[in-house]
Order: sequence, then C-alpha cells, then structure tokens
Amino acid sequence: MGSIGRMKVSDLASGGAPLFGERPAIELANTAYAVRGRAREGLAGVEQLAAWLRDMRARLVTPLADADLLGVGAQDLAVARALRDGIRALAAAAVRGASAPPEATAAVNAALAAVPSWRELIWGPSGTAPAAPAARVHRAARPVTAALAELADDAVTLFTGPELALLRACEGPGCRLFYVKHHARRAWCSPGCGNRARASRHYARTRLGASPPTRP
Ligand SMILES: [Zn+2]
Repeated sequence: MGSIGRMKVSDLASGGAPLFGERPAIELANTAYAVRGRAREGLAGVEQLAAWLRDMRARLVTPLADADLLGVGAQDLAVARALRDGIRALAAAAVRGASAPPEATAAVNAALAAVPSWRELIWGPSGTAPAAPAARVHRAARPVTAALAELADDAVTLFTGPELALLRACEGPGCRLFYVKHHARRAWCSPGCGNRARASRHYARTRLGASPPTRP
C-alpha cells in the first residue's frame, strides 16, 4: 500500500476490474467486481489505483501525467475506495428504490468538498467562423485528487439526472456490476454475463426437465 516508486506507468499492474465503457462513476463502482461469483477488489493497492487511473485517463477531463500516477499514495487509495463504496451503496439503493445511506452521500460529498472548482468561459478567438462558447472546469488540487473529485462530480450527475432511471444492477449469476440500460434489449453488464446467464438457465432447465433414471 506504500508509494509506487520507480516504475514505468505502462508496467503498473491493474486490479483486473472490467472497463465496459460505462460513465466514469460507474466504472469506478465496478472496481468491486466478481470472477465466477467470487468477490474481487480491483483497487487492492496504490499500484492498482494508479493503473486504473491510467486506463481511464483518456476519458477524464482532469489531465493526469505519468508523474501524477506514480505519485498515487495511500490517502488517494482511501479516498478512491470510500468514494467507490459510496457510489456502490447509492447505486444499490437507487435500483431498489430505497433511500440513500447517509454515509454514502457523505463519501461522495467529501471527495467533492476537498477540491474547490470553478468554470471558465471560453469564447473565441475570432476567426473566419465564430467559435462556439465553451466551459472549462478548473479544480484547485493536485491532479489525482482533482480526478477523484471529477469522478464524484460524475456520480452527482448520474444520481440527479435522467440516467438514474436507467441504472441497473447486473443480474448475471454472481455479478456485482452496475450499468446504464441505454438499449431496451440490454439485460446484462456485458455479453459475457449474458452468455453465462443463458448457460446456467439452460443447465437448470435440462436438469429439471430430465426424466429420472428408470430401472430395467
Ligand atoms: Zn454482469
């Protein structure tokens, strides 16, 4: 759990958590996953958190340099896990229609409150075509802390926006992942989970339907 030291970012070992292209807050929630029904911790140590941020950095607004990732420390890991567990608890409550556990909202809000942020309006420079106005978010913290706040901010967007109604817990056998059901026919976190569920249903059906052995 200590510091990573002199490694290359490309050599960092990931915790094996799947990245299925969900929004960042859900990808973080899904770092608590399962393999064949056995719970796995995708953020087992600072190296796994740094590797996860490496694999996610192209999708985060906060720029994360290699040096930032190699500087991931035990405090970052504690914040990331608390935020992850908070998002999981909130997602689980949401899909059950239950009210949010206070400690879960507190974990999301703590990651946000640790990082003052502001938006900058960008409009111009004037060229041949008028440039569209845009907003850039600045976060006054070291990049890894800012990235964790960005993930917390994404959770707020999820839980307060239209995607909340589409949030699902995968019902695959032993699966612990969440996903946003953007397509009416989607029923699983991933094609692999769907195949396993179909196979186990088929197995159950053929066992139930089999006639008992007859004696000669
Ligand atoms: Zn699944």
